Amino acid sequence: MGLEFIDISREEGYERPRVRSTINGRRTERQNIVAPEKRRRSEGNRTSELERRKRFEGQRTAVSEAKRRSERQSAAVPQRKRRTEAEIYQMADNREARRRARAAELREEQIRIRRRKRKRRKIIAARMATLCFLVLLIAGSFFLLVKMVTELRHTEVVTNDFAANIEPQEVVVVNEAEKPIITEDFIPINEFSRPGEVLPEVNNIFVHYTANPGTSAAQNRSYFENLGITGETSASAHFVIGYDGEIIQCIPMNEIAYAVAGRNYDSISIECCYLSADGKFTDDTYQALIRLSAWLLSEYDLTPEDMRRHYDEGGKKCPLYFVEHEDAWEQFLKDLQDYIMREQV
Ligand SMILES: [Zn+2]
Repeated sequence: MGLEFIDISREEGYERPRVRSTINGRRTERQNIVAPEKRRRSEGNRTSELERRKRFEGQRTAVSEAKRRSERQSAAVPQRKRRTEAEIYQMADNREARRRARAAELREEQIRIRRRKRKRRKIIAARMATLCFLVLLIAGSFFLLVKMVTELRHTEVVTNDFAANIEPQEVVVVNEAEKPIITEDFIPINEFSRPGEVLPEVNNIFVHYTANPGTSAAQNRSYFENLGITGETSASAHFVIGYDGEIIQCIPMNEIAYAVAGRNYDSISIECCYLSADGKFTDDTYQALIRLSAWLLSEYDLTPEDMRRHYDEGGKKCPLYFVEHEDAWEQFLKDLQDYIMREQV
């Protein structure tokens, strides 16, 4: 058992011993320790001594207890410190974990945003594609419609042209019109009415009127012949049809006649006599003109559309009635075509 330091100087009745000679240190010390005890015992105060000891013991116990508590406390401090460090680490870990979690959340949010954007872009692209498709569809439909309408019109035109053209073409094919009765009475070759020049080709048949009502075919033939003598003017025609329907040929078909300025080298001309002042042909003249024209068209592989009025080449009012009555001319062409087709049947 270790020595306990006791401050006995504060005990009651204690008197600090007088310091003696320190020759014998040990003796002095012993006297110092023993002296109070001796005095107390001498005072017969054992009870108080016991109490004092008890108190001392109690104090000692209290001191020990305080010390232990202090030790416990001092021992507790590093423990708490350790816990705190652990907690700090834990907290740091938590912070790191929270940071990571937040980062992960951010990443997920960004991914979500990116997905939403991608989705939106896809939707926009799909809408744009749909719009483009619709526009193209509408444009294509419109284009097709326009094309169809155009083709329909073209077809109609072609059909009309076919109706107008194929029949004349058929006319050419089927035109087997027989040669009408023609009196060949050629005028002598002369420079004013029968130059004797070759007619290289025939593209049109011209119809004229004599501009001299009541004159016969023979008279008009003589007029052409006389021009060669008088030299009055240059005029002639391959054929002359009288008002009775007779046909006189004045010039061979392989020679030119002086009938239509500018067209003498690729056409045949027919003069028609008449009685009426308005220049309308008699029915005989009209029918003879149809028969002669049909045969000529057949000879040259032409169609009724190749028939011409003198008027159509230069504007001269010849034949007068067909110039002043356009419908009569149209009717003539139609009658001519009907004649050709009827003759075929
Ligand atoms: Zn004429």
